[in-house]
Parts: sequence; structure tokens; C-alpha cells
Amino acid sequence: MALIVQKYGGSSVADAESIKRVAKRIVDTRRAGHDVVVAVSAMGDTTDELLDLAHQVAPIPAPRELDMLLTSGERISMALLAMAIHSMGFEARSFTGSQAGVITDATHGAARIVDVTPVRLREALDEGAIVIVAGFQGFNRDTRDITTLGRGGSDTTAVALAAALEADVCEIYSDVDGIFTADPRVVPKARKLDAVSAEEMLEMAANGAKVLYIRAVEYARRHGVLIHARSTFSSGEGTWVLGPGQTLPNGQGEDMEEPIVAGVATDLGQAKITVIGVPDVPGKAAEIFKIVARSGANVDMIVQNVSAAATGRTDISFTLPKGDAAAALRALDADRDDVGFESLIHDDQIGKLSVVGAGMRTHSGVSATLFEALSVSGINIEMISTSEIRISVVVRGDDLAEAARVVHTAYGLDGDIEAVVHAGTGR
Ligand code: ASP
Ligand code: MG
Repeated sequence: MALIVQKYGGSSVADAESIKRVAKRIVDTRRAGHDVVVAVSAMGDTTDELLDLAHQVAPIPAPRELDMLLTSGERISMALLAMAIHSMGFEARSFTGSQAGVITDATHGAARIVDVTPVRLREALDEGAIVIVAGFQGFNRDTRDITTLGRGGSDTTAVALAAALEADVCEIYSDVDGIFTADPRVVPKARKLDAVSAEEMLEMAANGAKVLYIRAVEYARRHGVLIHARSTFSSGEGTWVLGPGQTLPNGQGEDMEEPIVAGVATDLGQAKITVIGVPDVPGKAAEIFKIVARSGANVDMIVQNVSAAATGRTDISFTLPKGDAAAALRALDADRDDVGFESLIHDDQIGKLSVVGAGMRTHSGVSATLFEALSVSGINIEMISTSEIRISVVVRGDDLAEAARVVHTAYGLDGDIEAVVHAGTGR
């Protein structure tokens, strides 16, 4: 008998039928003799709808009240799920984040879990109940207020519960079969991975892969939680996310050779800002990025051109999330004379492609394969950045899907059959 934590995303509990299907799945796990703790997201697009409603009554909703509002979404799904389980003849009890002992810092809208004290969950489990917990929410002890963990936060709830309860596995359910070598909606020949290392998963998630949230993977790695990402729509194995020292539960794959490249991630959510005519003297980059940081933008890639000797000026380009661009541009423009640059260019038609693989540490020629594949297809590279296990390039947004396909082929990642995409969003 194991203790299994399961997380169901909004697309898995979008309506009454789906809730019943999820309830059945939970009951089946219970029937197999396991203790089950479930973290559940709000139904379908509930969170977006609530956000929308909030902005209709207030241009800038008060963060405390916004959290009160948004947490109600998960309360609906948790109670309905518990009821559905009851009607199948099983005992289930739902708990809000604060009842479940999910303690966070005080940051509304982006709180971090600082502790989990699952006393009530343990009691319920001891009494033989299936436990349902509202995802994405917690409680701060100082303010005594309800918080939310940021969009997609139910993954983190599930992992944090798994860590606190020392669960055997944390199963994260969505409408895709697992983690793929690329987004199957973009690259039809993407293959499901049996296993991926947590460090590769982190790079993929940070660079556009949406199946798992970064914070959840980080939390899992830090606390040694074994994640199994799988689909609500099939009973097949999904993808195991293995932290340092973890192996597949069936013992398979222990001496499996690491592929050089685990996957190709794509991201259309970034914009590029170019600062033109920056005086090429020490301190200018510092000034520029201090301004950008103060605007709240999260800078990703940075490229500085070689300065033209004649002018003693250079251009600096950087990428950032599309939503951060307006504030960054405003801040830079306001300080233009102080910094002494000439002008700004804003480009939100870019796409970022990243190739991720732990094998890059030990293999050469990985970037050459990427550049060659893009060049054969006539796709122009605008920026390049690398980490130890990742190479990213910026291309035209319109070229991104094609780029992902040719690069996927070039690394030998293509599968024989088209990936099955069950429903919608991958969440
Ligand atoms: N319902 C929240 C959201 O849509 C949390 C989650 O789905 O994980 O972001
Ligand atoms: Mg959701």
C-alpha cells in the first residue's frame, strides 16, 4: 500500500462529467489499496473568468480581495469532487489550503509555501477517507490572510503535500500523456519521454514547456518528491521526473544512456527590446538593466553588438516577457537623456526556441547541429544564448513552429507515430 498524491488540472475537472471521471480514477486508486490525497484546480477557465470579473469592477483589484475571490474557484471543484466520490460509496473530505496546513509567505498573488502542517489530512487519512485539497492556495500566519501561489500553482500544492506527507509518488494529471520531446501541437512527431531529469525539466519549463510548473519541479527536486506526469484520459504510463539519485520505480532505465538532447521547447511569450546608440563606455549596461529591473521586468537573453569604432556607440538587445515590455520601455524612455542612448525598438513578433539536454555537458557539436538545421531551412537567428545544458535562439515568431520541427528532426527526436493530443490546453 502506498500513499499517492494526485493533482488534477482545470481541464480535467472542467464539467460535471469530467469531475465524475476524475472521481472514478481516484476511487480506482483507493480500491487498489492506496491512500489518496488529491490537489485539485478550479474548473476549466474559472480562474480566468474570476479575474476578468474582478477587473470589471475595479481597474486594479485589491490583492487581498483578489486572492479571496480566486481561491473560491478551487473550493468549488474540491467540494464537487468530494461529493462525486461519496456517491460512488467512498468517504472523501475536502479541505481548503489553510485547513490543509499550507503555510505561505504574505505575498498575495505569488505566495511561496514556507511550511506544510497537514495535521487534518493525516487524521482524515487515518480514518480511511480520501483527502481532497484545494490547490493554488495557502495561509499566512502573520497577516492571517488567504494567499494564492500564482497561476498554475496547484502543481506546487500537490508537490508540497507529497513532500509533507512523504508520499510515494506525486501524480500530476493533465490532458496530455506526459512530457514530450516538444509540444505535440507544434511538432506532431514529438515523442513522449519515459523519464526526464528534474534539471532538464526545469530548463524546459523555464523556456516555454507548459506541462509542469517550474516552482513545482524545483520544490520536488529540493524535497526529493517523485513526479509522474500523466493523462486523465488514458491509464498508460506518463513521464517520470527524476531528481538526483532517483530512478524509475520499475527499476528500468537505470543504465539507460542519457540522450544528448531531451527536448525542444518553444516560447511565443517573449518580446525583444533594442536600445540603439548606447555610448560604449563602462557602466552603461549597468544603468540600463537597473532601469529595466526597477520597472519589474524579468530579463531573459541579452546581446550587445560590437560597437562601431567611428561612433563609439553600440546597440544592446534583450528579451523579456511580452507583458513586461510596456513598463520597461516607459522606464527606459524616461531616462534616455541620462543614459545617453539614441532610441528604442520594440519587437513582439519573436519566438524563442530552446534545445535542452544534460548530455550537452559531455558532447560537442550540439550547437552546430542546431545552427545547421536552421540554416538549411533558411531560418534566420537573431539572438543566441546558452547554459550548461541548454541552447536558445530567437527567431521570427512566424518561423518558430517550422524551426522546432526541423531541429527536432535534426537531433533524431522524431517518433514513428503522431502524438495523441486529447483535448485542449495541456493543463
Ligand atoms: N486555478 C489556478 C490557475 O488557473 C491554479 C491552477 O490551475 O493550477 O492558475
Ligand atoms: Mg487553471
